[in-house]
Formats: sequence, C-alpha cells, structure tokens
Amino acid sequence: MTAAPPLFAFDNSYARDLPGFYVAWEGAKAPEPKLILFNDALSDELGLDTSRLKTSEGAAIFAGTEAPDGSSPLAQAYAGHQFGGFSPQLGDGRALLIGEVIDTNGRRRDIQLKGSGPTPFSRGGDGKAVLGPVLREFVIGEAMNALGVPTTRALAAVTTGETIYRDGPKPGAVLTRVAASHLRVGTFQFFAARGETERVRQLADYAIARHDPDLLDASDRYVLFYRRVVERQAALIARWISVGFIHGVMNTDNTALSGETIDYGPCAFIDAYDPGTVFSSIDAGGRYAFGRQPNMAQWNLARLAETLLALIDPDDLDKAVDRISGELNRFPELYSAAWQGEMRRKLGLEKEREDDQAFFESLLTVMQAGAADYTLTFRRLGDAATGDAAPLRALFKTPEAVDTWLSAWQERIRDEGRPPQEVKAAMDRVNPIYIPRNHKVEEALSAAESGNFDPVRTLLGILGEPFAEQPGLEEYAGPAPAEFAGYQTFCGT
Ligand code: AMP
Ligand code: MG
Repeated sequence: MTAAPPLFAFDNSYARDLPGFYVAWEGAKAPEPKLILFNDALSDELGLDTSRLKTSEGAAIFAGTEAPDGSSPLAQAYAGHQFGGFSPQLGDGRALLIGEVIDTNGRRRDIQLKGSGPTPFSRGGDGKAVLGPVLREFVIGEAMNALGVPTTRALAAVTTGETIYRDGPKPGAVLTRVAASHLRVGTFQFFAARGETERVRQLADYAIARHDPDLLDASDRYVLFYRRVVERQAALIARWISVGFIHGVMNTDNTALSGETIDYGPCAFIDAYDPGTVFSSIDAGGRYAFGRQPNMAQWNLARLAETLLALIDPDDLDKAVDRISGELNRFPELYSAAWQGEMRRKLGLEKEREDDQAFFESLLTVMQAGAADYTLTFRRLGDAATGDAAPLRALFKTPEAVDTWLSAWQERIRDEGRPPQEVKAAMDRVNPIYIPRNHKVEEALSAAESGNFDPVRTLLGILGEPFAEQPGLEEYAGPAPAEFAGYQTFCGT
C-alpha cells in the first residue's frame, strides 16, 4: 500500500528563516475532534484536498491532535500595548502556526490553529477556545470578506469533545485561521523592547520579503515599508468605518502588518449611527469606540515606528524620528482620502468636490440625530436614487429631518448625469443589505452551543451574499429589536 500524499504542500518560511522568534510546539490531544464548519471555497482557493479534509483525518488536524506531514507547528513570540499599557510578552498563548502554503493565486498564506492548547506563552491561561467565540470569528470574518474588507479567513471550526469552564461549562473548539501572515506591530515590539536591533532588522527584512518584495533592494526600505503599512492601515480602517464595523480590541498585538483585520474578539457592527458606540464589556472607557478607530490605528502605527528607529538611522535617532514621523503624519490625510472614496462609492457619486468631507459628514449628523440605521440608510438611498424615498425617510425618527440633505444629494446625482438605475445598481453593489446583525449572531451562536448548527450555517450563507436582497430574509436585514439595546460583547476566548 502506498502512503496517502501529504494534505498540505507546506513551505514554512517563518520556521525556517526566523529561529529565535518562536517556540516549536505541539497541539493538545483533543478527546473527540468533530468538524463543525468547513470553508470549501477557501479550501479550493488554497489548493487543498477539500473532500479528504472533511473526513476524520481533517478533524484531527484542525483540532491540533495530529500534525499533518510537512507541518512545523510553532507558537510565535510577540508583545503588545493592550488598552495603552505595554506587555513585553504576550505571544501565541492558545494558537499554533502549523505552516504556510502557497495558494492557487501564488500568495503565501499562514494556516493557524486557535484554541489548540497551552504553549510557553499561555501566562496561566488554558490555551483553549470555546465554541461561541470560535464561531463568532468564523461568521464575522467571513462576512467581512464577503463585504470586501481585507481580513484573515476561517477555514474550519471543530469541537474538541472537551468541556471548558468559562462563565459555566462550554464546548471546547478550535478555529483554523488563514492569514497573509501573523506579523503584528507587537511582533516588532517584542524584539525592540529587548533592544535586539538585529532581530528587529531580520524581522523587517522578512516582512518586506513577504508583503512588499518590490522594496527589498531599496536603500531606504524600512521607511518605504513603514509607508506601506501606514497606507494599508488607513485603507483598512476606512473600510471598517464604511461598513460600520467595530473591532473592539485594537491593541498593537491585534494590528497586522499585512493590512488584514485580525483577531476577532468582542467585535460587532453598529446599528444606528453613533461614533461613540462601544459593545465590548472590557472597553468601558471607550478607547476603541467606533469613531475612535482611525486615531487608535495611528497610535498603533506610532508604536511600530518606534521599533524601526534604530534600523532607519542608528547614528542619528533625531533624523530617524523626523523621517518616520513624516510618514506617520500622513495618516490623517490618507485616511480621510480613503474614507471620502468609500463614501463617494456608497453614495453613487463619481465626481469629487471640494466640500465632500463636509457634505458626507452632514449626512452622518442627520443620521445620528434621527437614530437611523447606518447600513439601511445607504441601502435605502439607493432606492431614493430611482425615486422611492419612502423607505429611506422611514428610517429617521423625524422623516423630514433628512429631506434637505436628500435634495442636495439628488441634485448632485442629477448633475453627474448618470441614469438613476445605473446609480442605484452601483450603490447596491457596495451597500450591503445583510451584515452580521448582533441579535442574529447571538441567536446562531446560542443554538450552536445547544448542538444545533443549522442557524449558524444559514447565517453564513446569507452573509456570504451581502448585496443581493432576497425575499423572505427580512429578519436578517433589520437592526436588533429594542430589547437588544445595551448589547455587550465579551472577549471570552
Ligand atoms: P487576544 O485576545 O487574542 O488578542 O489575545 C491576547 C493575548 O492573550 C495573547 O497572547 C493570547 O495568546 C492570550 N490568550 C488569550 N486567551 C488565552 C487562553 N485561553 N489561554 C492562553 N492564552 C490566552
Ligand atoms: Mg490577539
């Protein structure tokens, strides 16, 4: 009998190129691995053997119980500012990078297990994850992807057969996450905080080779690389804001240099527009409130800048500070250009105007005063483009309050001269009708905790096609009912 071919064509650059940046480790033995969700489309994109991965062989791998051929499981070292305070050592305390594959588009992707047992970085934690948060990351991450937001992906969710105690007994679970890389601001901070400049350099060169290979031979590559990271963060946060997403834990260890959204914890989408919205139970101070996210991204980028100073000009730190601040200080303007671009698309506008920022902000002001649902306002503006303003007006506490802004917008649309049907179609392609509504997510997760996975599968299906309005799915399109006011999300890992 010939042995089955390897399930993954691993090529593990992190393990190979960065010894000293991780601890080689193994997953805990799960008593009864069971595959709950599997992402066929992503598996195909990764060039994997989808049908074989959906057998018990796959379940054991995704639980961390069996290391697949060619894998080099490891826990990565990283530090991080958490809610403003620096922790010099965080690291993968409940995750293992099992390896990297080159996907069918030629892109290198990390495959990581989250919840696969304790590691030397666990700091007293159990290294485990429970079903609710695993499914939450799966559902919200895949919804973000369907909305066109750069994000890590979810390949598989398994239950382990273990009971884990959090606020009561919970089913143990492991998420298989796919990422462009797991390089975080905190990875640089880990080595910079120890004064290990050569390691910071090694890490930066690795990051450049991986994410910005065109910069490898540039003499000022660290500044140019930093510029790219700043640009990616500005674009990413503008995408978050455009879809109404609150990350909830924008710590530097949860900021990926790839520009992907990473580490879904107490994240959620806003209903009514309010920049002060906070859902996370651990963010009482509102540090990571919806409207503060651009500022917090810039704050995190400043922490990254500090780690690179010694590489940029070791002999003249003042000069290094000048050079890198020049890049960091571009963030607000990059962000507002990106945000205006998002808004223009959402509003079906093709031409830029001098007063765009003020014009777009005035819509938000009207929305906030009228407690209008953020997602539906843009969707219903699409209907208003073709003449039916009633569904839009109905979203506002006092419908007349939106009329002035609406007329100004309709005039702009007329001035641009595109046929209204075309404007509406363009708007419907970018303004979702279905987002992960908090009450629908909670409903699906609690059904899953009692062993019924149908609602979570249904929800995933709907969120996978967020722009196509379908009859019969009205309950997925609206905000949470009033009882849901004061909704809180928990980090519960
Ligand atoms: P996160 O909430 O994913 O950003 O994680 C922050 C830090 O806490 C990381 O170093 C994690 O590895 C660690 N951590 C979170 N939950 C656990 C757990 N259950 N066991 C061990 N470490 C954990
Ligand atoms: Mg994290």
